[in-house]
Amino acid sequence: MAFRDLVGQKEVKSRLEPMLKGTFAQSFLITGAPGIGKHTFGNELAKAILCQEPTEDGCCGKCPSCAYFDAGTHPDIRRFEAQKGKKSIRVEDLRSGLIADEAVNPQISKNKVYIINADQLADVSQNLLLKSLEEPPKGVEFILLCSDQSKLLGTILSRVTVLPLHPYTTEEIEQILKASGKEDASEEKVKFCAEFSSGIPGKALSLMEDEEFSAEREHIFDLVMEMPKMSYTDILIDEVSYWNDNSDRVDELLLLLQWTLGDIATLLASASKGVLKNQDKKDKLISFLSDARGLTLINMSNAVNAVTEFSKGLKVNVSYDAACSSMLLKIHKELKQ
Ligand SMILES: [Zn+2]
Repeated sequence: MAFRDLVGQKEVKSRLEPMLKGTFAQSFLITGAPGIGKHTFGNELAKAILCQEPTEDGCCGKCPSCAYFDAGTHPDIRRFEAQKGKKSIRVEDLRSGLIADEAVNPQISKNKVYIINADQLADVSQNLLLKSLEEPPKGVEFILLCSDQSKLLGTILSRVTVLPLHPYTTEEIEQILKASGKEDASEEKVKFCAEFSSGIPGKALSLMEDEEFSAEREHIFDLVMEMPKMSYTDILIDEVSYWNDNSDRVDELLLLLQWTLGDIATLLASASKGVLKNQDKKDKLISFLSDARGLTLINMSNAVNAVTEFSKGLKVNVSYDAACSSMLLKIHKELKQ
């Protein structure tokens, strides 16, 4: 794989292209939300830096350096992460693995690369790294990965070339999902997870594998479909207890609920022409609407507002149980037209 094969991130790629023809900056900081692909990008960058015959698209993929890299045995790359169960990289690991190693010549490539998880750098480690970043020894390249730039010292930030990774489009996420062995999954599932991930490939991939998410999606969709027929007891006992049991995933539930209500509104507004989030469940949505002829866009807008209100209430610590019951009853009232 080379940079050209990575999906999206045109801005970062175009900044790296001139370096592939000339000289690389010595210290990079790749930033972006958790799951955005900082490790993938950092790896490709490291591979291109180490490659013996890099092209303008990235590494050559054929030289001994690329072969060692692919086998995971390249001697000129070191990675620094916190040990399992720990929050920070050990200062001793940086001292012995990085500071003491800087002066040692690379074995295969012209350069050596240190990839550092900068979210796991305590202040003392950042200070330790500063000197190396200020005057990096010749042939040493730093790639720092970080999702929260605010935790890094200003003195570190001023010494690195920042490469910000931005959320992907839904189409790009679909490409990434298909390329990562999810080609057997149904088109609808890929589309749904891609869109639900808000442009974060790591999230989309975990949603694809998360059976609980699939179950949640079905539950919320069926809840809306059944809502007009439900009694107060169904809502206040059974449904509220489902929301209580899954309160750790309430943000997901609320978004799923909003999407399903939004789909009904879309169909009401534009008959069958609208693009739906639950495209694979279009028939069920149409049949729901044919049974609910009195339903108007105002009802749907009120129902969506009830979801937004609950969501806002959660941020100001209202009683979860009471706010959840109130939301469900409001939606019930609107859908029972
Ligand atoms: Zn190569």
